[in-house]
Amino acid sequence: KIAYVNGSFVPHSEAKVSVFDRGFLFADGIYEVAAVLEGKLIDNASHLARLKRSVGEIQLALPETLERIEAIQKELVARNNLVNGMVYLEVTRGADKGRDFPFPKADVKPTLVMFTSEKDIINAPSARAGINVITVPDIRWERRDIKSVALLAQVLAKQAAAAAGAGEAWMIEDGKVTEGGSSSSFIVTQDDVIVTRQNGNEILPGCTRKAVVKLAEERQLRIEERAFTVEEALAAKEAFITSASVFVQGVVAIDGKKVGTGKVGPITDRLREIYVDFARATAV
Ligand code: PLP
Repeated sequence: KIAYVNGSFVPHSEAKVSVFDRGFLFADGIYEVAAVLEGKLIDNASHLARLKRSVGEIQLALPETLERIEAIQKELVARNNLVNGMVYLEVTRGADKGRDFPFPKADVKPTLVMFTSEKDIINAPSARAGINVITVPDIRWERRDIKSVALLAQVLAKQAAAAAGAGEAWMIEDGKVTEGGSSSSFIVTQDDVIVTRQNGNEILPGCTRKAVVKLAEERQLRIEERAFTVEEALAAKEAFITSASVFVQGVVAIDGKKVGTGKVGPITDRLREIYVDFARATAV
């Protein structure tokens, strides 16, 4: 398997960055994950737009243009003969000589790395069966709209989920669901209204979330962007999550209590189909 590290394509065993890298020392970096279907990048324009926004919010200059970054993503997919999976990319504020908190001098180049992983997102068994989620307090910082590599809170949340045999952790703040550890959260109310939290500093603006909201609106499905409680989710007909690595994934239980029928619901299934069609149509 081949990774990209600062201008070179190298085997994973040689894919290394400095111990002084600010991504390692301070989590001073940004990442993106784009899905790959049949060798093509899904909704990548949206991921690159968010990358540009994230680095802007932390005053980090990308070492390459977005066009060049997409070319590298594509070359990495090709070099790995990747059919279905994901491309991970990370940019950090680079490796300085020591451990000074303020930004390094201009001569320190940002670090840019990428690697791929295989996953058959379309035929994942959990897509059919649905997943259980657990709830945990949202202990993250106040700028969750920035896709930063500071993911310790999500590591702990998703470890707790894994230990409980659940597929995702829903994070709770002020009695409301913010989002999943690595996904956006949705419910479908008893009157078929699709509800997902509005964008803001409290959640990451999910690319898949954005596409699903738009696709649902175009089909005259009712969508409300607002926060919801766990009680509301447990009283809902359906619940699901969205992310680049699962697309649309049904949630069948929360903290061991059934959602709806306890099976993946019809609106979730339909949105998944609609999203997969969109993904195929916009793949590059
Ligand atoms: N929310 C969080 C906290 C995430 O980490 C992710 C993806 O990793 C998402 C939402 C979903 O975003 P996207 O649909 O762009 O993958």
